[in-house]
Amino acid sequence: MSGMIQVLADTVAAQIAAGEVVERPASVVKELVENALDAGAGVVTVLVEEGGKKLIRVSDDGAGIAQDELALAFARHATSKLRTVADLDRIHTLGFRGEALASIAAVSRTTIVSRARGDSAGATAQVEGGEVRYVRQAGAPVGTVVAVENLFFNTPARLKFLKSESTERRHIMQLVSNYAMAYPNVRFRLIMEGREQFHSTGSGDVADVLVEVFGLEAFKEMLEVSPQPPSRPDLPPIEVYGFTSTPNLNRSNRSQIILFVNGRTISDQSLTYAVVQAYHTLIPSGRYPMAVLMIALEPDEVDVNVHPTKAEVRFRAPEAVFSAVQRAVRRAVVDQAPVPPMGGDPYGSVEDGWRPAPSADQPPRAMVPGEEQLRMELNALDPGRYAHQRPDYMTPSPQPQTAPTEIPEGIGRPARPRTLPILRVIGQVGAMYIVAEGPAGLYLIDQHAAHERILYEQFMAEQAAMEPVAQRTLDAATVELPPAAAHLVEEAQNVLAGLGFEIELFGANTFRVRAIPALLADREPGDVLRMIVQDLESGNEPGGVTLEEKLVRRVCKTAAVKAGQTLSYDEMQGLIRQLERCESPRTCPHGRPTMLHISGDELAKQFGRT
Ligand code: ADP
Ligand code: MG
Repeated sequence: MSGMIQVLADTVAAQIAAGEVVERPASVVKELVENALDAGAGVVTVLVEEGGKKLIRVSDDGAGIAQDELALAFARHATSKLRTVADLDRIHTLGFRGEALASIAAVSRTTIVSRARGDSAGATAQVEGGEVRYVRQAGAPVGTVVAVENLFFNTPARLKFLKSESTERRHIMQLVSNYAMAYPNVRFRLIMEGREQFHSTGSGDVADVLVEVFGLEAFKEMLEVSPQPPSRPDLPPIEVYGFTSTPNLNRSNRSQIILFVNGRTISDQSLTYAVVQAYHTLIPSGRYPMAVLMIALEPDEVDVNVHPTKAEVRFRAPEAVFSAVQRAVRRAVVDQAPVPPMGGDPYGSVEDGWRPAPSADQPPRAMVPGEEQLRMELNALDPGRYAHQRPDYMTPSPQPQTAPTEIPEGIGRPARPRTLPILRVIGQVGAMYIVAEGPAGLYLIDQHAAHERILYEQFMAEQAAMEPVAQRTLDAATVELPPAAAHLVEEAQNVLAGLGFEIELFGANTFRVRAIPALLADREPGDVLRMIVQDLESGNEPGGVTLEEKLVRRVCKTAAVKAGQTLSYDEMQGLIRQLERCESPRTCPHGRPTMLHISGDELAKQFGRT
């Protein structure tokens, strides 16, 4: 029997292929919005009727399509964005497969009107069920409008499996707001069923978009995530930035963990898990943070050509991406989350395994922190907030206070904005803690941890300005080291020099210490070197901090006032003044808290005044 195998008619083949790209109305919105963004649009307007089944119209003011190429845009595998296979490694556009318009037009009636920048006239074309109805000249402003009507009219099975209109609208809403977050300088508008559902201002500030998407109240609970240096120098550079929620803003599902890779919204279970894991012990199990994270890496580090919808990507070094996401989020949360209230254990798993002692008058709490336990003080005056969470009236406050000599402020250092409310020192407890009072209650400050934080930020500022302040040693100490240790010092010469050390080889395994970081000026140079050797010897734990970071922390730890050191009132006040202006005053560089806070309410409760 012959004639059984036949090549499918083009339109049938196109419909089958279309199914891969166009799953639902939101997929159409996605492809059209991506095209608008690829065309460099500054304004993108999306209009939806009947959940997208009746009409999806996307207009943009981008580069447009030349008249004579309009019909070509609908052809399968017709693209202006990719020429050779090698181009796949350096994709900077959202589209590249040249399938979207063809697929959409195969399962709908699609009308396009476009005028290319520089052209005197525009053109319009219509394709229905994959067949070209017309192509002709038309007057139009520069840019493109694509209208998709009667989606899936010729694929009844698809139509039947569509979810309710409200579900489709939810998907579209999510998609448009996602793109608005990834492209904050583009002005988006989403109109559904005749009503504006969402708009962004195009101000260029992601924060503005987040306020639109999540509302101001939720946004106040978001912490900024900034790129962290890679954990190992051999790893590819991966920048992770955006926003992530404080532990007390959490959700029952992962849907608000929104990830972008090079400006493309993606779904990736493993990276979602990296975000969740960064909140380990901070959020009750079964609850999930909210996050909007941009992951930027070299185009050849990521394969976007895994799936027709381009929703999943493959990384060349998935572990590195995982760790970059996890570390950036963890850092944001640990550095910026509000001051832990007394008795809570929100920092239970930070690097050094620190645990706060349970307070004496409270029974030990359950191992898995519950919401109640994690509830943080969030009244308006609470200091433990990220910059945008502070009420304006707290920010300005010139400090005439003169800092004591023991805790130098540095010369010509610009006064930084306050990150804590003004605290008034009351006294010292156990030569270890400073008791202070602020507008939101009582603060117990660990003098050593707080000073470490201050020195650390000073040191990093000097580093960033490329001027590590070094102190030449008077009598250049010579130190003889065991061969292995000497080798380590030689290897680390560059890093050490960057930190203000000047160490020269002075014979076999013997070094002369010519300069040390100014912070350590009062230490014996030989001791300083031997201490550094210990850090070098302990090596780099995988996933741990860089050698440089480790040494900086060591220098600051060594230079900071010790627990057990009695401080004068002025010294304490000076320390607090500087802490108030640290970027992350609430934790020491090792991630331990520098302070505990007992709110006025908590005091009242403890004294049975409520
Ligand atoms: P791809 O985006 O993968 O190239 P599409 O089928 O989505 O494939 O689009 C085909 C081509 O049509 C694009 O490469 C682009 O040249 C052109 N095009 C589509 N939409 C627009 C638009 N809104 N503005 C300008 N050009 C567009
Ligand atoms: Mg496209």
